[in-house]
Amino acid sequence: MKRYLAHLISVIVVLASSVICVMAQPILVIGHKNPDADSILSAIALANLKTQQGIPAIPLAQGTPNPETEFVLNACKLDTPSIQTSVSGQRVILVDHSDYLQAPGDITNATVVGLVDHHKLGGLTTDEPIEVWVFPTGCTSTIIARMYASADISPPKEIACGMLGAIISDTLLFSSPTTTQEDRDASVKLARIAGVEDIDAFGHKQLQAKSSIEGISATKLLNQDLKIFDMHGRKVGVAQLELMDISTVATRKDELLSAMETLKAEGYHSILLMLTDIGKQGTDLLVVSDNVRIVESAFELKGIGNSVWLPGVVSRKKQVVPGLLRAFEGDGAQ
Ligand code: MG
Ligand code: MG
Ligand code: MG
Repeated sequence: MKRYLAHLISVIVVLASSVICVMAQPILVIGHKNPDADSILSAIALANLKTQQGIPAIPLAQGTPNPETEFVLNACKLDTPSIQTSVSGQRVILVDHSDYLQAPGDITNATVVGLVDHHKLGGLTTDEPIEVWVFPTGCTSTIIARMYASADISPPKEIACGMLGAIISDTLLFSSPTTTQEDRDASVKLARIAGVEDIDAFGHKQLQAKSSIEGISATKLLNQDLKIFDMHGRKVGVAQLELMDISTVATRKDELLSAMETLKAEGYHSILLMLTDIGKQGTDLLVVSDNVRIVESAFELKGIGNSVWLPGVVSRKKQVVPGLLRAFEGDGAQ
């Protein structure tokens, strides 16, 4: 009996210490694959807020920052988060996504303890209750600004600057239809903390960095902001390049289409590339698909071939993905 009790106690001690060990590890805050400015800056901001609240957290990125994010990190004097694509056995907060295909590959072996996002809900499910902040704002950093305010904590100057950069990036300097009043209000407050006197001037410099594509290969441009979706059983990639003026990429369309074909051969039903013109407020949509009719029906168009100009379309999450999901749902046999 004594031996049995001793054994039981040792088992409890081992279990308790492993639980304490996991709890003592900082929470990992991580954005989506092919990270954009919001995914990286929101991870930095939320890790800071949690840490200020006495919950140690560290920001991570699933890939190297793109040129626009580099600009924001440098301008705001922020360090680039460590790059990590495995989170197995860790406690994780997801920012800027909830789709499994955009999360770390082993996310199902991690414990998701929080979600802060402004996209459609992905397929995320959890075993235990979690903290969820999901709102249809223009940017995840706007939601994190709300979290700082509700905790009565102020972001440090550098982080406020980074959050401002994330909002400028996601809302295309407040020109995207995804922009809300809360994004504008948060930007004014963050700019004040960051000491950014002219948001417009800062934003224009940033959008120039976003538009720099010279010397970057077609494959890299395609993968820079590629999001993968499961659309009713079909694997669909929707990439986007947001440029001040898409005439800079006009001569490279064939090269981009051939990179799309190569990517599609990796098991995709369709690859779409949005060449979004921030100045003209529209998108030249390049399409490579097993069934272009599904894509056509998403936009109520006919005979689009491999490219079509969509006036007024600039947002993937609001103006492209919802229609595609409906079109794929209505075409289950294809
Ligand atoms: Mg994003
Ligand atoms: Mg975002
Ligand atoms: Mg974006």
